[in-house]
Amino acid sequence: MNSQAITADTLLHAGWIVPVVPRGAVLENYSLAISGNRISALLPRAAAGVIEAADELELPDHVLLPGLVNCHGHAAMSLLRGYADDRALMPWLQRHIWPAETTHVSAQFVHDGVELAIAEMLRAGTTTWSDMYFYPDVCTAQARRLGTRCQVTFPILDNATVWARDADEYISKGLALRDAVKHSDLVTVGFGPHAPYTVSPDTLQKVAVLAAELDAPVQIHLHETRGEVLQAVEQYGERPLESLHRLGLLGPRTQCVHMTDAGDQDIARLAASGAHVVHCPQSNMKLASGACPVTRLLQHGVNVALGTDSAASNNNLNLFAEMQCAALLAKLQSGDATALPASEALAMATINGARALGLEDRIGSLEVGKQADVIAVDLGGPETQPLYNPLSQLVYACNGSQVSHSWVAGRPVLAQGRLTTIDLDHLLPRIRAWRERIGSTAGQTLDQ
Ligand SMILES: [Zn+2]
Repeated sequence: MNSQAITADTLLHAGWIVPVVPRGAVLENYSLAISGNRISALLPRAAAGVIEAADELELPDHVLLPGLVNCHGHAAMSLLRGYADDRALMPWLQRHIWPAETTHVSAQFVHDGVELAIAEMLRAGTTTWSDMYFYPDVCTAQARRLGTRCQVTFPILDNATVWARDADEYISKGLALRDAVKHSDLVTVGFGPHAPYTVSPDTLQKVAVLAAELDAPVQIHLHETRGEVLQAVEQYGERPLESLHRLGLLGPRTQCVHMTDAGDQDIARLAASGAHVVHCPQSNMKLASGACPVTRLLQHGVNVALGTDSAASNNNLNLFAEMQCAALLAKLQSGDATALPASEALAMATINGARALGLEDRIGSLEVGKQADVIAVDLGGPETQPLYNPLSQLVYACNGSQVSHSWVAGRPVLAQGRLTTIDLDHLLPRIRAWRERIGSTAGQTLDQ
């Protein structure tokens, strides 16, 4: 060891590093060091000789980038992937999904569904995700056990479900969970009022007060369809976004999921409030819900992140596919092929997602001092050759299967394409058993 040496736990030598900050930067022949749970160095390969690491990895065909951030989903619903396709949102929910959930959702359902979702997400580069579902305590335990970073927004509804009787019980159980995991480095717990059409104004106001007191994140489905907005105007005389504003629920801690129906006034309101938008293009297209005006939101300074929504309405949890869709849809919508370029789509899947979840100072970019949430993507295969521009390949050519390695807070969770915290031989038979159980009752909920 020479006298100037710096020590690290892991030293990665990559063909390229895309740090995301600064936007659009591509560093060729660079190295990244991990010490403990943090990034401790980012420097040209030629200068990396000063670092002595316990583990050193050569990744010559790979690009390193920050772990992807999936800002909206219902992980356990992966058990309903492909269960009821090709239907509009409300019939899909009312005639299929909600009845199936009433019959089957349990702590074990969430345990297994979340593990399936995490396996899929890690294999495609997602290291941080947000969840809104019943048994958030089980989801939280799974996220921690399997080594992923997660924002758990506990569900809040007015009606009784398998998890709680009424809004007060949802909130009290959720706050107990928040208290129980307040020291976790990996999991943050926030409020998940489902939507303005399932949660009353009184409850939304209560959430606003509590979230402000606790400085906690709030995630809500909002303006998912034009029908939702029209119905609210009829019932309350105002658009749901305006109701949220009036109830004190719209601010920098608020994550508005979908926003497919957003006019100039809505965009101005979002921009003034500092609220975030989570764009879920594949789910919106599959349910024919509409298309979020991403380009205009970004132009007005609104932070827009990406989400998959659940595997029941997508039908995958692959953020590479979501990036590609977001970019293509923005071009189609605006009639402008320069809209949402690759660097911006990648920012939405990383640093914008981190900002939406209030984790911008910890994750979302590869910068010294940030948490070591890092993924390696192998661009050496035929699907991503020849390589003129790594950013272009990442957004327009990758399908997620090129992700070879992932670290979360410095811990390897995917190595050479193999999950290190999940045993698929143990998981997949359990998932097949769920298919037997759920499939056997599917006929009860199908319409004609
Ligand atoms: Zn959703």
